[in-house]
Order: sequence, then C-alpha cells, then structure tokens
Amino acid sequence: MSLTKKIFIGLGLGAIIGLLLHFLAPDLFTTLNTYVFGPLGTIFLNLIKMLVVPIVFLSITLGTASLGDPKKLGRIGTKTIGFFLATTTFAIIIALALAYIFKPGDAGFDTAGASFEANEAPSVVETFTSIIPTNPIQSLVEGNMLQIIFFSIFVGFALAMLGKKAEGVMRITEQGNEIMMFLVNLIMKFAPYGAFGLLASAIGRMGLDGAKAMAGYMLVVIAGLLIHVLVVYGSMVKVLGKMNPIEFFKGFFPAMTVAFSTSSSSATLPVSMKAAQENLKVPKPISSFVQPLGATINMDGTAIMQGVATVFIAQVYNTDLSFSQILMVVLTAVLASIGTAGVPGVGLIMLAMVLTQVNLPVEGIALIIGIDRLLDMLRTAVNITGDAACAVIVAESEKDKGTGVNEAS
Ligand code: ASP
Repeated sequence: MSLTKKIFIGLGLGAIIGLLLHFLAPDLFTTLNTYVFGPLGTIFLNLIKMLVVPIVFLSITLGTASLGDPKKLGRIGTKTIGFFLATTTFAIIIALALAYIFKPGDAGFDTAGASFEANEAPSVVETFTSIIPTNPIQSLVEGNMLQIIFFSIFVGFALAMLGKKAEGVMRITEQGNEIMMFLVNLIMKFAPYGAFGLLASAIGRMGLDGAKAMAGYMLVVIAGLLIHVLVVYGSMVKVLGKMNPIEFFKGFFPAMTVAFSTSSSSATLPVSMKAAQENLKVPKPISSFVQPLGATINMDGTAIMQGVATVFIAQVYNTDLSFSQILMVVLTAVLASIGTAGVPGVGLIMLAMVLTQVNLPVEGIALIIGIDRLLDMLRTAVNITGDAACAVIVAESEKDKGTGVNEAS
C-alpha cells in the first residue's frame, strides 16, 4: 500500500475515533490522549521539525549556489516573488468577494464578552527590518526562518562566486542535504501513525464544538480555499506550468495530507520538497530555492482566512468598510501572510494586524478562535500547494534557458 493511502487511513481513523470518544467516552479520551494520541502526534511533529532548520539552511544555500550566476538568481527570485505576491493578492480578492456575497457575519452574533489580547502581532516595518540577522547562529538556534533564508541566500551566493575556492564547503553542503533527504524518507514511514495521533487528539478535544454556530464563516473560508486551489493553481499549473493539474494534485497529495495533519508549512517543508522533486519532477535547485522561501512567506490559505475573517468581523460589528479600507485589507493581508510564520495558529494572530489597520475591534478574533484549529489544517495544505505550484511554473519557465538548471535534478 502506498504511503499516501496509509496516511489517509491514519487521518480517517483518527477523525472517527476522536469523534466517537468525544461524544461517547470523554474520560477514556483524556487517558488515551495523554498516553497514546498526544505522544504519537508529538513524536511525529518533533521528528519532522528536527529536520526543518538544517533543511532550510542547506537547501537554500545549495539552491542559490547551484543557480549560480547572479542574473539567473535574480530572474528566478523575481519570478518566484512575483508569483507569490500575485497569487496571494488573488487569494484575498476571492476571499473578500465571497465574504461580501455570502455575508457570513450577518446572522446576528453575540459579541458581548468577546475578548482577545493582540499585542503579539508585529508591525509591518518590524517584519521587514528584522529579516537581516545580526547573529545568524542565533537565528538558527531560534529557528527564525526569514533570517535563516536571508543568511543562506548570502552564503549560497558566496559559494557560487567563489567556485573552486569554496569547493569543500559546497561538497559538505551537498552531502548534508543528501543526509537530510534520506532522513525525510525514513521519518515519513512514521507519518500514518503521527497523522492518526494528531487528528484523534484534535478532533477528540474539540468535537464539533462551534462548528454549527460558525458554519457560515467556515463554509465561506472553505469555499475560498477550494476555488483558489482548483481554479487559480489548477489553471496556472496547466497554462504556465504545462502540467496536467490532476497529475499535479495527485503528485503533491502526500505533502498536503502532512500539512493538514500538522498545520505547519514549515514542519511540512521536508515532505513538500520531496514530493515536488520526486513526483512533480521539479529540479532540485529550483525546488530548494522556491519551496523553503514559499513555506515562510507565501501563505495564500492564510490570506483567504484573513480576508473572510475581516469582512465577517466587520459584519458582526455592523461596520461598513469603505473602498479604501478594503484596499487596505488587501495590502495588509498580503503583508500579514508574508509575516506569518509557518507554524500552527499564527495566521490568526497576524489577523490582529489587519483588523487594527482598518479600525475593526480585535476582540472579534475571539469569535472565530474556536474553529480556527480546523481551518488552520485546511489553509496550511493550501499554503504549501501554492509553493509547489510556483516551483512547477518557475521550473517550466527555466526549461529553455539552457542554463543547466533543469538537468540538475
Ligand atoms: N498554520 C499556517 C501554516 O503553517 C499558518 C497560519 O496559521 O495560517 O502555513
């Protein structure tokens, strides 16, 4: 049986058992969660998280170094970031349109007692200036992805420029990367059990709580995610990436299931790179450059949630957003999704930044926090699919450049 099938069975069993225990035997659930589900999930999460920092550092360094000359790097960098910005803008526009059409916040919500502390969201300027690490070792230790990426691009660039002089380090980087990829394969054997534990634990704890009251909001977010994945990614992969969208989704599905069970783009990175390189045949240098960057700054699913949530909260609090405020939402949601770290739940914290920009009550977040765990799973799967779509498209566009990038895989 293929690994994807096994993970899928793990997810399904986890959901069913979690739900049954939630309703029929909550006490038994608590015990099982403490000794079985919780530890299974945590072991899996820790195993893949263990690889994230070394993989981001090694693969971006290697990706940048193998792209070699600054012109090529500039071209691929521009395409990648252009794609990220364009798709995130699309995402948020789809979200706003759906939220205005279906008005999920008009159903009469009780906002009394809603409270949410929001001082954790950094400002836009802070997000950008803090990208340059003053101490790269500290960035590695803390797992600060944007700083690690910044440093790795510089190191990779130096390796490319120095050529023979830094041959030894280049070899070590390559071999280090091989070791990490081997470990990803090994750890993935545990994925079905990890996925089972994570789902049983999450669903067992929350059951269907809040799902009914928030059904409108949830459905609009889910519709936005689906439209974005199928229409925007599907057509871009077909037209720009010259790949059959069904093949694309099929090949990338294993990574999507892991993103769904972990709710973390960054923890899923090792798996999504493997899926893109092996199943979608994206050349290593491109995948190694585009995907770690995307897992950190490209979050279309998060932008969709933030768009729907902003309009939802405006509707609940009976506030009309002016056109310029809506533009502001588009802009800040794009920035907020760039600033969102690829770990569970951060999208909701960054939503505070968007709400503050348009003077909406940040307490509104309290209304949606209950069901965010589930939406987080879905949007994370969308977030990483966007990175893979970008990798496929950039790879296709580099094919005829005759620069050797495409032969490197
Ligand atoms: N969990 C998401 C991710 O890792 C980020 C978010 O909270 O929206 O991609």
